[in-house]
Amino acid sequence: MNVYDATRMADLLGREGYAETADEAEADLVILNTCHIREKAAEKIYSELGKLALEKREREASGREMKIVVAGCVAQAEGEEVLRRQRAVDLVVGPQSYHRLPDLLKQAKGGQRLTDTEFAVEDKFDALPQPSRAQIRARGVSAFVTVQEGCDKFCSFCVVPYTRGAEVSRPVTDIVAETRRLVDAGVREITLIGQNVNAYCGVDEKGAEWSLASLLGRLAEMQGIKRLRYTTSHPVDMAQDLIDAHEAIPKLMPFVHLPVQSGSDRVLKAMNRKHTVADYLDIIARLRRARPDVAMSSDFIVGFPGETDEDFEATMALVREAGFASSFSFKYSPRPGTPGAERADQIDEEVKRARLAALQTLLEEQRQAFNAAMVGKTIDVLFEKPGRHEGQIGGKSPYMQAVHVSGPADMIGEVGRVAIVAAGSNSLAGRLVSAGEEAKA
Ligand code: SAH
Ligand code: SF4
Repeated sequence: MNVYDATRMADLLGREGYAETADEAEADLVILNTCHIREKAAEKIYSELGKLALEKREREASGREMKIVVAGCVAQAEGEEVLRRQRAVDLVVGPQSYHRLPDLLKQAKGGQRLTDTEFAVEDKFDALPQPSRAQIRARGVSAFVTVQEGCDKFCSFCVVPYTRGAEVSRPVTDIVAETRRLVDAGVREITLIGQNVNAYCGVDEKGAEWSLASLLGRLAEMQGIKRLRYTTSHPVDMAQDLIDAHEAIPKLMPFVHLPVQSGSDRVLKAMNRKHTVADYLDIIARLRRARPDVAMSSDFIVGFPGETDEDFEATMALVREAGFASSFSFKYSPRPGTPGAERADQIDEEVKRARLAALQTLLEEQRQAFNAAMVGKTIDVLFEKPGRHEGQIGGKSPYMQAVHVSGPADMIGEVGRVAIVAAGSNSLAGRLVSAGEEAKA
């Protein structure tokens, strides 16, 4: 979602005459779009700001200007404290008010230091300009579209409900219009995003409510779209119509990111996740019935307060039973203001480290095995860009694996059939297969 937000900020400021640069030293304006989910991410901001402050001072000594903005969830959570901790920061703007950046920047030019962290999510989407065809093209054939923001779940470890605010779904027509514009400019894969994307419940022009499954069905009808994905889902909102959509909509990729966090019912309860391990396994079973080639990925937290060795072993057992194509796993990080952080039974750092290492070893084995099992199969690849070597093109498998083949650049934006010949640790190598050749085989 931060990638999407950063893109929209770039669109917005493009209209004000700003252009993006990859070189900090060239920038008149630097925006740090920040993440507050774990302490490590949040702390990085202040060391980054320290470096920028030096640059700003040098710049100002030679009579040139540099404005520094802190956006995102650290801005939301820490607000004015950011201005206090780092004098060089000009503006602090939250994830639901960044559409006001042009106005705020005008005020900052007059020397004011401001904070805007209002939850104005509906105004935000109305105020943001759509990107030009050239901007869309420059960003490639795969794009994100935010359909839902915020969260009402209050898992006891998580800051998102406090930093992104309450659950809000965008109207169907807005999403269709934004998607149409992307597809008309050459985008071929759309990933619908939201903190709780499968809790999506948006209204159409008649005021009727649509589920995520209905929305996916509508977008799948759009000419030019080749692939649809959605992320991130919560197990509790994994409705049967969404599971059925995996059978009914061939464009919907058979790869579902469904965070489980823990394999222990006791810990899940303490985390306020509102589902059990059995519920989770049942969802996977129903998904596999709907779409037998579906693969799963997940998020895990180890060392939640009170997690015993037995609880952790239950997580390892769940991973062995479910089997994941890829995953993200983290040590529990106490976040200010969340119930988990208040608990007295915090887990030792050393124990967390050892559990994370064991879990990541198992998850990595599963990822490698999943990749290795692709060798010998013929799969669809959406080509996205030229490969590293001359005459090569690169793309993604249905399971988000990077795939390289020898092939013509005009296949970028197309889905090709590829026979996988080798699996490296981070990508697959394949050979383009013609329809005739595949039919013979
Ligand atoms: N809405 C999604 C995920 C949002 S945050 C969901 O409900 O699953 C992304 C991931 O960050 C989470 O799935 C969780 O694994 C991790 N995370 C969130 N808070 C954390 C914390 N305090 N410590 C460690 N990991 C955390
Ligand atoms: Fe955080 Fe996701 Fe739980 Fe919401 S559902 S509180 S975003 S982990």
